[in-house]
Amino acid sequence: MIHYKLLTPGPLTTTSSVKEEMLLDRCTWDNDYKIITQKIRAKLLELAGADKVEYTAVLMQGSGTFAVEAVMNSALSNQDKALIITNGAYGERIVKIAKYMGLAFREYRVAYNECPNEEEIRNILIEDQDISHMVMVHCETTTGILNPIEMVSKLSKKFEKTLIIDAMSSFGGMEIDVPGLGIDYLISSANKCIQGVPGFGFVIARIEKLLACEGNSRSLSLDLYDQWKEMDKDGKWRFTSPTHVVAAFSKALDELDEEGGIPARFLRYQKNNQNLRERLNKIGFQAYISEEKQSPIITAFRFPNDDFNFEHFYTFVKERGYVLYPGKLTNESTFRIGNIGEIDEKDIEELCDIIETYMGVVKK
Ligand SMILES: *Cc1c(COP(=O)(O)O)cnc(C)c1O
Repeated sequence: MIHYKLLTPGPLTTTSSVKEEMLLDRCTWDNDYKIITQKIRAKLLELAGADKVEYTAVLMQGSGTFAVEAVMNSALSNQDKALIITNGAYGERIVKIAKYMGLAFREYRVAYNECPNEEEIRNILIEDQDISHMVMVHCETTTGILNPIEMVSKLSKKFEKTLIIDAMSSFGGMEIDVPGLGIDYLISSANKCIQGVPGFGFVIARIEKLLACEGNSRSLSLDLYDQWKEMDKDGKWRFTSPTHVVAAFSKALDELDEEGGIPARFLRYQKNNQNLRERLNKIGFQAYISEEKQSPIITAFRFPNDDFNFEHFYTFVKERGYVLYPGKLTNESTFRIGNIGEIDEKDIEELCDIIETYMGVVKK
């Protein structure tokens, strides 16, 4: 199989050293393995700027959605109601989760290329006193738009609501001051900006809130409270854990440190993202999200013209070593290029050269 570089928002391109960690079989009950889990949990808190007296990290088997579902399912009791702020497919997925779980919720939806409006949220909170929780995606991977967590955090504090943030595609790639923002549950997963492989998600949770979740869960396996209680004893997971993935993730955390932590990683992503957008813009590709709202994580580009054939373009680029990502908008033709993963400046230059060649070839 050819070693492609993935310009996708997870699974993404990982280092060989992260992949090599998976060559060893580990035992879930063994102390050496439990130590790895505990190290990961402590490190995640450190990355979140959170203190272990106030916060805890809970790891959950499955893809990121499993962790989101575990939070929604465990944090909301039958007396609670969520305000779910959406402007993309991942926010809408949370709405779907709420429907499946039979949770009380209200959706506040804005256009995919717009950020939620402070006044409108404030009015909803004044008008609907039943709302107990606010839920929002930080970086909407659908378009790459960066949602205003500071504004939402301010409102959640003022109105005393529990705040749940899906920071799946941003945590580890952008600094997020979890205690400062008063985030009660922050959700992310192994295969995004920490640059591990897929297999589990994690939640950074405020202990005080988590303690009140006992008995809320409508599901056995997605019970965040029980998962925490078990894991918190000594690092043993409830049920079989993805041992290879966990080992790889631990290595990925070390490599994040070696790179210079989140600030250094953010700069790499941001620089690559700026170069990418600038170069593609020159040859007719417009970003769907305006610059001030654009995250350094992933960019959605509009098709450059009516004749543009994404399949053809995708294959051309793939044959030259890079895998792109299709769009996820229903009303506009877009495709996406991710910046996260083990991708450096040279990769982006090479990718832009390939795309330039493609545009030249197709025009002739
Ligand atoms: C990747 C992602 C998820 C989780 O998706 P999975 O396919 O379940 O891993 C959730 N929210 C956002 C914003 C994401 O980028």
